[in-house]
Amino acid sequence: MQIYSSISELRKALLYHRNTKNTIGFVPTMGALHKGHLSLIEASKRENELTVCSIFVNPIQFNNASDLEKYPKVLEHDILMLESVACDILFHPSVTEMYPYGKPALQLDFGYQNTILEGKFRPGHFSGVGIVVAKLLNIVQPTRVYFGQKDFQQCLVVKQMVDEMSFPVDVVIIDIAREPNGLAMSSRNERLSPTERNKASIIFKCLVEASTELLKADFENIRRKIMANFRDQTIQLEYLEVLDYESGKLVEVIQKNKKYVICIAAFLNEVRLIDNVVVNT
Ligand code: AMP
Repeated sequence: MQIYSSISELRKALLYHRNTKNTIGFVPTMGALHKGHLSLIEASKRENELTVCSIFVNPIQFNNASDLEKYPKVLEHDILMLESVACDILFHPSVTEMYPYGKPALQLDFGYQNTILEGKFRPGHFSGVGIVVAKLLNIVQPTRVYFGQKDFQQCLVVKQMVDEMSFPVDVVIIDIAREPNGLAMSSRNERLSPTERNKASIIFKCLVEASTELLKADFENIRRKIMANFRDQTIQLEYLEVLDYESGKLVEVIQKNKKYVICIAAFLNEVRLIDNVVVNT
């Protein structure tokens, strides 16, 4: 695997592939790689001639300084993981390489998505995500870019940006990889003890239960039941909402023959976990 930390060196290396009309798949990450990330790389490997992964812990998307400080950084481990799936190129820039003039003055406002769920609870988060994804897409200029369904709303804002600003790239969404107990794989799980990881599996169990009751019960009752379950386990619910899969808008009334996503965010011992399930009614 070739490793670059300089934008100009990476661009030079990619020029050859673009000139030979090779398709380029791109997987942006923040590192501390797990099997979920690898499933994105594997999808890119299947669908493209060249796969580029980036590892960059993007400071401007963190609205909480301690979350940024505690974000796991394990580059040696990540390189071994990427080599195990034969990733072709790793781009691993420093903060000054990406933001030589300091924090960008530019801000991106995604309208409605900024007012709900992650947009509401993490002010400035999507602006930071949008800016780094736009920069990375301009640097790599891939044929396809891969994101995980785990960050469903992130997929929505990236698609919005790509559509509204006509980025020449296909956005591909990959299913959530889970631990055997159902817990969605996440770099933040590194901060949980084995007992806490077991405890956190209740998040997915509650989502599954909510999905089976979605058409039958009032959603407010479902939410109340889940909150009670969480309280027993000392997990704090931040939000539990249903979105229309197509429009990405919050829904109050559940209808038959539609596709929804139930999204959740919860804290376990100061570690913020998100998850979601897709439901076809
Ligand atoms: P991150 O390093 O957390 O920014 O994630 C990089 C990419 O991997 C994002 O598109 C995430 O949605 C995706 N991802 C993270 N966790 C999972 C998972 N458990 N399954 C599938 N994709 C994931």
